[in-house]
Amino acid sequence: MSLKVYNSLTRKKEVFEAINPPYVGMYVCGPTVSGESHLGHARPFITFDVVYRYLMYLGYKVRYVRNITDAGHFEEEGREAEDKISKKAVLEKLEPMELVQKYTNLYHWAMARFNNLQPSIEPTATGHIVEQIEMIKKIIADGYAYEANGSVYFDVEKYNTDFSKKGLPYGMLSGRVLDDQMDTTRELDNQEEKRNKSDFALWKNAPPEHIMRWQSPWGEGFPGWHIECSAMSNKYLGDQFDIHGGGMDLQFPHHECEIAQSTVCNHKTPARYWLHNNMITINGKKMGKSYNNVIKLSELFEGTHPILTQAYHPMTVRFFILQSHYRGTLDFSNEALQASEKALRRLWEAYEWLVKQNFDAQAIASDKTLDEKTATQIREFDEFMNDDLNTAKVLANMFELSSVINSIKDKHIAVNAIGGATLQLLQQQMKIYIEDIFGLTGERRADDGKLDGVLQLLIEIRKEAKQRKDFMTSDKIRNELAALGVQLKDEKDGGVSYTIQ
Ligand SMILES: [Zn+2]
Repeated sequence: MSLKVYNSLTRKKEVFEAINPPYVGMYVCGPTVSGESHLGHARPFITFDVVYRYLMYLGYKVRYVRNITDAGHFEEEGREAEDKISKKAVLEKLEPMELVQKYTNLYHWAMARFNNLQPSIEPTATGHIVEQIEMIKKIIADGYAYEANGSVYFDVEKYNTDFSKKGLPYGMLSGRVLDDQMDTTRELDNQEEKRNKSDFALWKNAPPEHIMRWQSPWGEGFPGWHIECSAMSNKYLGDQFDIHGGGMDLQFPHHECEIAQSTVCNHKTPARYWLHNNMITINGKKMGKSYNNVIKLSELFEGTHPILTQAYHPMTVRFFILQSHYRGTLDFSNEALQASEKALRRLWEAYEWLVKQNFDAQAIASDKTLDEKTATQIREFDEFMNDDLNTAKVLANMFELSSVINSIKDKHIAVNAIGGATLQLLQQQMKIYIEDIFGLTGERRADDGKLDGVLQLLIEIRKEAKQRKDFMTSDKIRNELAALGVQLKDEKDGGVSYTIQ
């Protein structure tokens, strides 16, 4: 069974066929490093990390390009007067590149905590000004962009007229019709420079106070946001590559603009498969400054945002995200995260026992039904992933398998109920999926279980101290651990869990 993915461009699930197997080129829009990444950013980067890992599991050699937007991302959709980085640098009294470095470091720190693999190439917009200027020159030469007062705009209407005939109309990805966009575009700065409201900036003339500026054929200025992704994906992945990924919010205008720019230059859509993950809502509400519900990743890991009732381990967040299909909506709540935390702990417990066992491959199953059911559930891992990367269904199966593993571990089921060959397959596939594909053992396994052992011992000593009413000792253990960033939590069932920050 081959991999099928939902292609946003055709709105269909399609069999994935690499352009030049075994190589796969994948481009994912990275962060704008004008501020710290928040929970909403966690989803695309974890989603595409799993896509990357799964493609490698299937045997592809993947070149994964994920950019850093360190220039050119304008403050609001459509508003093209000021660059986000420049504005924030003035606010924080930092050099723009100092600001960029600060937030890039924070972003890398968060990605590492999520156990996301590093991309093959992580190009920056400021490092590719030359390529962007070259691309803009080509678009002008082909007649699809025009200069006005030192700025350059893409002529959307002309593009749409000409390329509609070739079956590549503007709006083909988002399904928007050009008329709609023109009606809904707000009055914007420098609007008078544009021929049409739907035109977007490829290059902006920098006013004297603008810090970030580069020489160009049109005077000193800075690039538009959309052009960087076209220039960098083209440079590292070629005229047409396999997968372009990002959040659904990027479909319009960002990806639509990318398609238009690249199509002018190369006469074909830049990527074959466009994959978009859905958004995260917070307690049923859209994430936004007006709701005061934008949870930064450091706040999430430390439990410091007012919405949070506790700190969440990065692996809990990762697990929570993978528990839903990437195209489905995902609602964040403390209850949902706490449920994920518990579920993940159960999965880990089962898994950590499982990997230490030596099963006899020759052992015959005494319970044929259970043996077959187990084997089927293991085989379904690949089937579910091949069906548009359904991590949710794989985890549901794993959860059922964990119950079986725990039953064997607790001797409620005899180990020979399941055949040795199936148990070995279980061991092997659980390891591949939990560690290699889902990347769920990031910080947890780094200490090889020693830290967990020490903490369990302290929890046990504290429990004994409480039983003999030695509250000085039990409080001391709790408080000293808290000072070290280890939070103990008494569970309803009498057990104690911990989170490490
Ligand atoms: Zn992009």
